[in-house]
Amino acid sequence: MEFKLNETQESIQNLARDFAEKVLRPRIDDIEEVGHFPTDIYQQMADTGLLGIAFDEKYGGIGAGYDSFVLAFEELSKVSPSAATALLITLLPLEAINLFGSEEQKQAYIGPSIEGKLRGSMAFTEPSTGSDPKQLTTTARLDGDTWVISGVKRFISNAAYAGPMLLYAKEAETGKCTAFLFDKPIEGYSTSTPWEKVGLLGSPCYDVFLDEVRVPNDDFHILGKRGDGFTILKATTAYGKLGFSAVFLGAFGGAVNAAKDYVTTKVHRDSTITKFQAIQMKFATMLSKYESCRYMVYNCAETANDHSRLEEMLGQSALVKAYVGDTAVEGCVLAMNLMGSYGVMKEYQAERFLRDALIGPHVEGQTDVQRVIAAGYYLNH
Ligand SMILES: Cc1cc2nc3c(=O)[nH]c(=O)nc-3n(C[C@H](O)[C@H](O)[C@H](O)COP(=O)(O)OP(=O)(O)OC[C@H]3O[C@@H](n4cnc5c(N)ncnc54)[C@H](O)[C@@H]3O)c2cc1C
Repeated sequence: MEFKLNETQESIQNLARDFAEKVLRPRIDDIEEVGHFPTDIYQQMADTGLLGIAFDEKYGGIGAGYDSFVLAFEELSKVSPSAATALLITLLPLEAINLFGSEEQKQAYIGPSIEGKLRGSMAFTEPSTGSDPKQLTTTARLDGDTWVISGVKRFISNAAYAGPMLLYAKEAETGKCTAFLFDKPIEGYSTSTPWEKVGLLGSPCYDVFLDEVRVPNDDFHILGKRGDGFTILKATTAYGKLGFSAVFLGAFGGAVNAAKDYVTTKVHRDSTITKFQAIQMKFATMLSKYESCRYMVYNCAETANDHSRLEEMLGQSALVKAYVGDTAVEGCVLAMNLMGSYGVMKEYQAERFLRDALIGPHVEGQTDVQRVIAAGYYLNH
């Protein structure tokens, strides 16, 4: 058991922390403008290597592993959970390609995406469900040597940017779920305006309308094998759950920092309010929740590094996402309460972290569904 960061972990953590303070903090208002994440900042994040932390050097990554990845995403999110999410969304289809893709698919998408040239999406959710693959209604019908895909996908992040689209659809003939891979936009593909949501304003999500989108029936346009869609979805969303746990951990950390700044500078009768035992108790309660989230996320990152532990990763990432998602919301509320009325004022930042954290129990799988997945694993191991 090693609780001291190694040189690589420490330097990536410092890199992300510096980037967040120097580049993201001065531009928070631009980042939070709905649907317009600043292109120059996105490119700077890519140029800094933040998209390639966990990927193999062979594909242009840094090869530093998920331990360094979560440290970086925690630091970015302490300033801007939206910015970290903008990166994470690009990584979702890449994780799937990395785990299940052919060499040709990896070469086509991983390098260009981590250089910032492509911004991919993963599309599973539909108006009828975001949890149950049996309820998918988007269908893929074979027409000679072409798949014809029709349906509606809901809340799809990055959908309006050019890049790889990893889309789960039901094969019309067999009813099996298959993972299709194609470049968006494409003929027959259109998006709604961005959904207006409570937080993560810099990371827009859309409905996607698929009107007879035609995709060649070949190995390049299907990830893994036909009918493997649900297996691919489960494995890759496990990595997504780890990534989002790091983002919401960071959002919580941002609120902790805002509260600490406040209580250590707010003066009552000549000394700071840290003298009040009620403040000390709330602060310690908040901090214990933060620390428990941190170690769960870091521990899960170790599991993520070892692809042979994928089954464990499915259970552990669900447990961690459920816990961190809920606890970050509680923690941000505690932070705001430490700050009196200043906590609910925009200028004091804690309200933004709470709004971002509120997305945690929903995105990449609802909390209750995560608990069911986690129980399913841990009751049998
Ligand atoms: C900001 C944001 C970005 C997103 N980006 C994407 C994206 O890029 N791609 C994508 O595919 N999706 C995306 N989503 C969608 C998200 O992953 C789904 O909304 C989520 O998985 C839940 O699905 P649902 O909303 O359809 O809820 P449902 O699955 O309909 O669930 C509704 C309620 O029923 C409960 N429930 C359902 N099944 C069970 C069960 N078996 N046991 C117990 N309770 C159950 C749930 O807990 C929930 O409370 C995004 C969502 C958000 C908020």
